[in-house]
Amino acid sequence: MWQEYPKQIRYVSFTKGNLLTLYKDDKMKVHLVGRPSIDWSAIEKFANHNKIEKYGHSSAESLCEVAGRTCYMSFEKPRPGGNSAYLKHILEVGHGSVLEHACWNFIIEGVSRSLTHELVRHRAGWSYSQLSQRYVDESDVKFICPKLVANDAYLQQTYNTAIAYIRDAYEKMAARLEELGHKRKICRQTARCVLPNATETKIFCTVNARALRNFFELRCNAGADTEIHALAEKMLKIMQKEAPNIFGDYTIDDEGCHTEYRKV
Ligand SMILES: Cc1cc2nc3c(=O)[nH]c(=O)nc-3n(C[C@H](O)[C@H](O)[C@H](O)COP(=O)(O)OP(=O)(O)OC[C@H]3O[C@@H](n4cnc5c(N)ncnc54)[C@H](O)[C@@H]3O)c2cc1C
Repeated sequence: MWQEYPKQIRYVSFTKGNLLTLYKDDKMKVHLVGRPSIDWSAIEKFANHNKIEKYGHSSAESLCEVAGRTCYMSFEKPRPGGNSAYLKHILEVGHGSVLEHACWNFIIEGVSRSLTHELVRHRAGWSYSQLSQRYVDESDVKFICPKLVANDAYLQQTYNTAIAYIRDAYEKMAARLEELGHKRKICRQTARCVLPNATETKIFCTVNARALRNFFELRCNAGADTEIHALAEKMLKIMQKEAPNIFGDYTIDDEGCHTEYRKV
């Protein structure tokens, strides 16, 4: 019970380099680290046509158009409007599989384990590699502090006290397990049982355009948890610059993102 917590850690003061550094939501970082590239000469060879228009603002958009044109072998006489009109039509008719050919790689950091637990529920079109709490020593780990907590002195003090206690327990358990002669991996995998949802983590994700659209619609949404909502909004803004012909139909406001082409 809370009342039984040792007194000395209830009012522990946090200084830099001491027990912990609190992260707030705005410390969340999304690094777009990989994008598709396209080999036009190979496409020309396949299409047996030497004057293929170089579609799109990005290789991702071009790849989706080439994929769609392969269905009808319509390379020679593109409709007016270019890649933007072509992909708008794909969204309109819901030919969503065409969007699965464009994939991006992201590294996401400064987010909580509760966020990544929600993120990995997105199965179709996503691949993940996440920081291992079995192999990585978490005694210096940071913790995500929700804005509502950071904005209130009582909540903040309560949170700080709980985190300090947990952190202390993690270190003591890992040390004791080591003393008992267990291998490092065993010590860490056992001691991590006390780490909370707020524990900071990093995750590498590869995801295609169709899966990203589904993610934005579900998570850049007032019904979603605040932290994943913030992540989805951040990623959507990145993608609107990266591939406007695939993601430009979304408008974003406080409620989330909106489009007339849901779940293509
Ligand atoms: C506001 C909110 C609250 C939530 N609350 C909870 C909760 O309380 N508990 C909980 O467990 N989860 C919860 N979730 C998670 C939710 O149930 C989904 O698991 C998550 O949003 C991933 O969505 P998805 O299945 O569409 O995505 P993906 O797994 O990426 O799938 C994309 C699409 O592919 C199709 N698809 C994927 N797999 C299958 C399949 N096996 N069979 C048929 N079609 C498939 C579906 O059309 C699906 O929409 C919540 C999500 C949101 C947004």
